[in-house]
Amino acid sequence: MYDWIIVGAGMTGATAARALAEQGKQILVIEKRAQIGGNAYDCKDEAGVLVHRYGPHIFHTNDEEVWAFLSRFTTWRRYKHKVLADVDGEYMPVPFNLNSMVIAFGFRKAEQMRKLLVERYGEGNCVTILELRKSDDPLLCELAEFVYENIFKYYTVKQWGVTPEEIDPAVTARVPVRISKENGYFTDCYQGMPENGYTAMFQNMLDHPSITVRCETDAKDVLALADGKIAFEGKPFDGKVLYTGALDELFDGKYGRLPYRSLDFVFETLSKEYAQLCGTINYTVDKDYTRVTEFKHLTGQKCPVTTVMKEYSKPCGEGDIPYYPIANADSKELYAKYREEAGKYPALYLAGRLAEFRYYNMDAAAASALALCHKEK
Ligand code: FAD
Ligand code: UDP
Repeated sequence: MYDWIIVGAGMTGATAARALAEQGKQILVIEKRAQIGGNAYDCKDEAGVLVHRYGPHIFHTNDEEVWAFLSRFTTWRRYKHKVLADVDGEYMPVPFNLNSMVIAFGFRKAEQMRKLLVERYGEGNCVTILELRKSDDPLLCELAEFVYENIFKYYTVKQWGVTPEEIDPAVTARVPVRISKENGYFTDCYQGMPENGYTAMFQNMLDHPSITVRCETDAKDVLALADGKIAFEGKPFDGKVLYTGALDELFDGKYGRLPYRSLDFVFETLSKEYAQLCGTINYTVDKDYTRVTEFKHLTGQKCPVTTVMKEYSKPCGEGDIPYYPIANADSKELYAKYREEAGKYPALYLAGRLAEFRYYNMDAAAASALALCHKEK
């Protein structure tokens, strides 16, 4: 009856479901949570404030196809995310930029640093903190040490449990030092928030006569993989399966668990209109949470109260939600073993942040799903 079973109703699963349904395929989406949207799920809390239950999600992309595809299912609120680091009570724009430099060093010294940065890296460009720390110029060394100590070190230790040198350099490279006055967190050409929220956008994506969605259904309970064949509810399934969950879970961790970081979220509703200056404040030198997000800045919602959310990072143990894949040589090797195991099932396809074990933003997850669907066509 179904051509495809898609495991997971997040960005990857919902995108693939819609694109395949539009190719004339019959799709069953199974989702173990009670709701769709994956980690981008949003809903109103008890106070009526629209919040993101699994961490703050801001959409940004340079991918025209992804932007055009999602724009069929939502209109967008124009929003440019801003982040300030709280450095001992002083606020500095993150990514650290020429404005942050003036706050940290005063105008005169910041100007000297700016000239050196422009000479070395070019006006308007970026440099990663790990690269900047290799500078031989004393003034650039001073800048690098300041940014490292006050923006990266403690935050990274909280987030990953280790120092910035010990994680994949691509992670800190997401937030480079900018040789410009750009205060926006992202620089992509398309940025925004779904006007009626992510959940509404996902509902529209999945609202198609050829798509059936079953929530509160764990793949582990309905799919069985053995000897290169897949069974669904006890019967051989001759369609295809797209799996978007964690790959080690699919194979019961038989080679060992893939390493992830998990998070605890602590929400608080306050009886005032706004609690902080911008969408997110990063606590880069103190506190045991990494950042605090105030959703109303992101969503533009108007109401007399506000909800903020603190994020606490922790290792991902049994029963925790895997949020961030930890990329290193060992985990890549372990992932490759699972990938090889998955390769024994010709009808099994993998896509998404968990299944591909990649630190994907939402747009990359959607792009991966669309690429798979193009190949299928
Ligand atoms: P997910 O959203 O994780 O969806 C996978 C789905 O599969 C889940 O619903 C899960 O319940 C389901 N599932 C798993 N296993 C099974 C099973 N066995 N049976 C049935 N269902 C199963 N990206 C941005 O672009 N902008 C941001 O601002 C941003 N902020 C983020 C903040 C945080 C704290 C985190 C953790 C991520 C953030 N991301 C952001 C990344 C974004 O969450 C991911 O890119 C996106 O969620 C990936 O979609 P996905 O469908 O691959 O995975
Ligand atoms: N980072 C940091 N201080 C900051 C912001 C980011 O040290 O103020 C580092 C940290 O290691 C973090 C990484 O840069 O995990 C990537 O940050 P990003 O904001 O992209 O993380 P995400 O939003 O995906 O959690």
